[in-house]
Amino acid sequence: MPDVLDRARSQVLEGGTGLSEADVLEVLRLPDERLPEALQLAHEVRMRWCGPEVEVEGIVSLKTGGCPEDCHFCSQSGVFASPVRSVWLDIPSLVEAAKQTAATGATEFCIVAAVRGPDERLMAQVRAGIAAIRAEVDINIAASLGILTPEQVDELVQLGVHRYNHNLETARSYFPQVVTTHTWDERWETLQMVRESGMEVCCGGILGLGETVAQRAEFASQLAELQPHEVPLNFLNPRPGTPLADRDVLDAKDALRAIAAFRLALPRTILRYAGGREITLGDLGTRGGLLGGINAVIVGNYLTTLGRPAAAALALLDELKMPVKALSATL
Ligand code: SF4
Repeated sequence: MPDVLDRARSQVLEGGTGLSEADVLEVLRLPDERLPEALQLAHEVRMRWCGPEVEVEGIVSLKTGGCPEDCHFCSQSGVFASPVRSVWLDIPSLVEAAKQTAATGATEFCIVAAVRGPDERLMAQVRAGIAAIRAEVDINIAASLGILTPEQVDELVQLGVHRYNHNLETARSYFPQVVTTHTWDERWETLQMVRESGMEVCCGGILGLGETVAQRAEFASQLAELQPHEVPLNFLNPRPGTPLADRDVLDAKDALRAIAAFRLALPRTILRYAGGREITLGDLGTRGGLLGGINAVIVGNYLTTLGRPAAAALALLDELKMPVKALSATL
């Protein structure tokens, strides 16, 4: 029986079909000495099925904190010991953030709100914000506003939202351990509606929540079933005041193994580094991921912690000879 990386070479690299859950699990269990080989193969898969371009995205929080949900990893929840007050961004600041994002060469600008799902106040802000950005900035607009109703899906399509982010966060079997105020299936339903609406689906999660390696493989295969356009991969950055505050960050080698495994499960998706990469991987690991299957980055501010300044991220892409994806190529 051929080795899992031999199978991946013919099935994923040559054929463009992602690995099964069982094979993803084998990749996640590879010994350290096989890790460079797995990353190299994941990089080849990314170059073959996605190309050398890297998608750069900016992200801004329209409403921060005060969320009624209890996602145990999230510092924006209002239900833990030190609840975070909700803060709203005004429209001029939103437009300024979009301008700064476009100036970095980014093609996507994602408007995010810490909510279970949008209420009328939030939808009104989103409407006004999108109109104001469109009047002044040439950039694709994405949104991440939680669980949607069918009417809200329709309205976002009418507003021209290009991509909708809603993370499944973790494997279906592990989700109830980290969120009790809504279900994984509710998130899945929103994703199905978004997919049917024609908006691009952006769906990822957080690794290092305490899930087993088998649950990490389960999550990769659930994402593969969804076939999202983009998968943001976060690594837990334990935040003070949350139930996961004392959890250790994921081992850097396990994080790199996961990057390779997720790329081999999802050969054609945009696999994006999102939050927590600095604390988990450091500078060398960031480079390792970009040479191991990652093909998108977020510049500037993350939602709750400061990421690397845009200039540093862009300089690294330049050094690695990975061109930034142009806006015209995405329209
Ligand atoms: S992850 Fe989203 S839904 Fe969950 S607490 Fe944070 S902001 Fe709220």
